[in-house]
Amino acid sequence: MSNIFSRLIEKSRKRSPWVYRINAGSCNGCDIEVAPCFSPRYDGEQIGALLQGSPKHADILLISGPITLRTKDMVKDVYDQIPSPKAVIALGSCPATGNLFHDSPTIVGSAEAVIPVDLYVPGCPPRPQAILEAIQTAASLLEKGETRSQKEVTNG
Ligand code: SF4
Repeated sequence: MSNIFSRLIEKSRKRSPWVYRINAGSCNGCDIEVAPCFSPRYDGEQIGALLQGSPKHADILLISGPITLRTKDMVKDVYDQIPSPKAVIALGSCPATGNLFHDSPTIVGSAEAVIPVDLYVPGCPPRPQAILEAIQTAASLLEKGETRSQKEVTNG
């Protein structure tokens, strides 16, 4: 019975990934592209994706913007609040490299400096279709147990 229950949870994770979004210092360009992903135009719910109001209910973290001195602790805290297994998607050039803000004295750098990132979506900003594709890919990684957080648990 518990085996059936575990399989049901694994399938749900792939078919209905719940998503939480944080802005770590973004110009809002990436966030503006996330909004239509969950609107009738791009309709993320067609792939089961649902935006959540709390990290405690999420499977996938979307992060936009470069990590700043002011947001780095918040980013780590939000990541820790998401129950395992979890996946992280970095949106746009900022969380990948710091982008045009990289040499600012208030910038820590890429998201990788604070949390393990599973997928990067290129662009400044990325298009909604690319964001939804990344959510589907992250859901598949979760189902296969291949996210960084899952591998870290397996490797001890
Ligand atoms: S990647 Fe571009 S659009 Fe996105 S937060 Fe950075 S500067 Fe703004």
